[in-house]
Amino acid sequence: MDVNILLVDDDPGAIELMGRILAGVGKLRFATNGKDALRLARESAPDLILLDAEMPGMSGFELLKTLKAEFSLANVPVIFITSHTEAGFEVSALDMGAADFIAKPLKSSRVLARVRTQLRVKHMADELRRSAATDALTGVANRRQFDESLEREWRRAQRSGDPVSLLMIDVDHFKLYNDLYGHPKGDVCLRHVTQALLSACNRPADLVARYGGEEFMILLPQTPRHGARHVAQQVLNAVAAFGIFHEDSQTTHYVSVSVGIACFDDASACWPNSNEFRASDLVRAADKALYSAKQAGRGQTKLRDMAAADTPELAADITT
Ligand code: GH3
Ligand code: MG
Ligand code: MG
Ligand code: MG
Repeated sequence: MDVNILLVDDDPGAIELMGRILAGVGKLRFATNGKDALRLARESAPDLILLDAEMPGMSGFELLKTLKAEFSLANVPVIFITSHTEAGFEVSALDMGAADFIAKPLKSSRVLARVRTQLRVKHMADELRRSAATDALTGVANRRQFDESLEREWRRAQRSGDPVSLLMIDVDHFKLYNDLYGHPKGDVCLRHVTQALLSACNRPADLVARYGGEEFMILLPQTPRHGARHVAQQVLNAVAAFGIFHEDSQTTHYVSVSVGIACFDDASACWPNSNEFRASDLVRAADKALYSAKQAGRGQTKLRDMAAADTPELAADITT
């Protein structure tokens, strides 16, 4: 197990001692103040933090509070280390979300046992979180994780003013595929389509999710319409490159997908209603664009500005 532990104490002697005790447990990083600890944790989230409660500047309590408020660090278990032994101190640390509490002077067997326990619990919790967020058939994000990520990215985009785009992808004539080749082959086809979608996105923030049945989503943070169009075209190309034979497809005799693109970017801001939107409106716009792509003959992409989701008469906004 490749674990990553962050040791935080203003006393270099204490750090050295903890370092010796935990040398064989995993990769260790050190900080002698709260600010450096926070920087290291943000650089890469540790599996466990051993945190001195009393430090000049940012105290252990303050650091714990900051960690708990950060989305990507809130689940990192923190063991408090302190020379205070009163029950009240221990209780308030646990109340604030500390995973455990070790009193100084440090005893190596106790530190090791407590650390191993927290790492075991963290590992199980990670597995549970991962499987709750993953689609079992395809291994990508499931609907639940998609909904959460969309909400988060939408709020982030509203704060920062960055553009955001969404692709809704539906496999063409997939009922016919299942009817002709059987459900197990249909499942294999969905896995291949998933691989194609993954290969079409390049940025770490892009999220591929299975939305339901043979429908997928690709969430593209910080991506304006021309970028979204580019990824959508990559999706069509990548699915075509798999060359999955589909005799009954009226479109091409190969499995194809239709893509509805929804975008919210600088150009959306000229719409008078552009500040009244919610994340769900992005999905609605993508759904409408997908419908247009199906209507136009499948195997293609159509784009809808989120601010113009309900105005199909504006041909310019549904044409790619
Ligand atoms: P269109 O081009 O209009 O999208 O036609 P379609 O046949 O793909 O659309 P429709 O929504 O009628 O059919 C979707 C089909 O997807 C129904 C079902 O047979 C299939 N399907 C949904 N989920 C799964 C799955 O998990 N595995 C398999 N093998 N098939 C699935
Ligand atoms: Mg101290
Ligand atoms: Mg469908
Ligand atoms: Mg379909």
